[in-house]
Amino acid sequence: MCGVFGVFDHKSAAYLTYLGLHALQHRGQESVGIAVSDGYDINLKLGNGLVTKAIKEEDIKELKGDLAIGHVRYSTSGGSNPKNIQPFFAHFYGGAFAIAHNGNLVNAHELRMFLEKDGAIFRSTSDTEVFIHLIARAKEPPPSHIILHKNDKEFIPHIFEAMKKVKGAYSLVILRERQLIAVRDPYGFRPLVLGKNRTGSYFVASETCALDIVDAEYLRDVNPGEVLVIDDAGLRSYYPFENLEKLAKCIFEYVYFARPDSKIFKDWVYGIRKEMGKNLAKEYKIEADYVVPVLDSGLLAAKGYSEESGIPLEIGLIRNHYVGRSFIQPTQDIRDLSVKLKLNPVRYVVENKRLIVIDDSLVRGTTSRKIINMLKEAGAKEVHLLISSPPVIDSCYYGIDTPTKEELIANKMSIEEIRKYIGADSLHYLSLEGMLKAANKFRQKGFCTACFTSDYPIL
Ligand code: AMP
Repeated sequence: MCGVFGVFDHKSAAYLTYLGLHALQHRGQESVGIAVSDGYDINLKLGNGLVTKAIKEEDIKELKGDLAIGHVRYSTSGGSNPKNIQPFFAHFYGGAFAIAHNGNLVNAHELRMFLEKDGAIFRSTSDTEVFIHLIARAKEPPPSHIILHKNDKEFIPHIFEAMKKVKGAYSLVILRERQLIAVRDPYGFRPLVLGKNRTGSYFVASETCALDIVDAEYLRDVNPGEVLVIDDAGLRSYYPFENLEKLAKCIFEYVYFARPDSKIFKDWVYGIRKEMGKNLAKEYKIEADYVVPVLDSGLLAAKGYSEESGIPLEIGLIRNHYVGRSFIQPTQDIRDLSVKLKLNPVRYVVENKRLIVIDDSLVRGTTSRKIINMLKEAGAKEVHLLISSPPVIDSCYYGIDTPTKEELIANKMSIEEIRKYIGADSLHYLSLEGMLKAANKFRQKGFCTACFTSDYPIL
């Protein structure tokens, strides 16, 4: 997964991008990059690791200009090679552009083979680079239903053509010398929002939490299938696809990925996540003393469960905030250890108590197994594990870092076998209907649920 951010028309564009990326750090911790334009030249700073580690004050000072884009990366395609750090930069007929991408293309390999045969030389292993070559080679006129602004005649049709060739998930920010362009795939897999501050600067970000940090107001989502161009002549929207696909917004963004203080896909993550917990309480009534969230991911579902069931919420696990997400660790041994580094039971709360422990998802089973073991060692009498989403049975090809199908515990074991393996007194998952109902309550429709159902919107 990744996070993208863009600024148009602010004298501190690089610094605001740094802040925006910091707010989106949960979407990727592996690498970070900022590209800035001063109207003539585009300059880049790329680095490994967290935003605050990779980008220094001197870098920001050097990145002069009032337009910028940025990217935080969590590799799901192309591996963690430094060559894959985004934004990518390319010269384009006497000009240049930089591009940053959230999502995964499903036909990147095919397109790459075709482009390579046709003479293209790739410098990375990332699927995003395919966009650069498709943009460079595009020749077709714009679709007949589109009337282009004079500023857009040269470059924008190249984006339309690239969009017609790629398949998969893409929320893009593209920087040109005097233009910021935001693009969202026609299925709308990944979120992308537009904001504006009091002095008239525009911002594009994966989530609204990144608008908050730069004091920008949320205006609207960049729509599925939209190409939004922002320059000195104003804002312009193009929809190159005459018939839009069925929407496939990633439900896992609401379950786990997005920050709860964000609004994505036009609704608040907080409300939907809490509603998932309420629905879990409607589906499973369990007698217990406390509801205990697995922090931070299970907090809101636990709050919802507690409110609906009347069972008090207690913080029976304390999180150490100086440890990154457990998934960042590359091997199973380190992953096992990192759960312990991250969460510690509160004996004062859990001793001799019957607990309902709530987490948002069960993927490999590593986290839950460790947590239940630690809670029992700390004296918990019963531990019932409730998950506020259905069993994850299949991989994601659209940008979420789900392990291979073989590593997914729900793909290998029955619910009863998983219960035994993780050592819980009982184990329950929210039903698919319960999860969708939570989002639908807020008018939401059109989700991709492939990781829970194997029903892939694009094969
Ligand atoms: P596991 O230990 O493999 O069962 O992972 C479950 C834990 O990882 C839960 O606490 C989730 O909040 C979290 N999680 C689920 N999906 C992801 C993901 N794609 N990246 C990082 N963490 C995740």
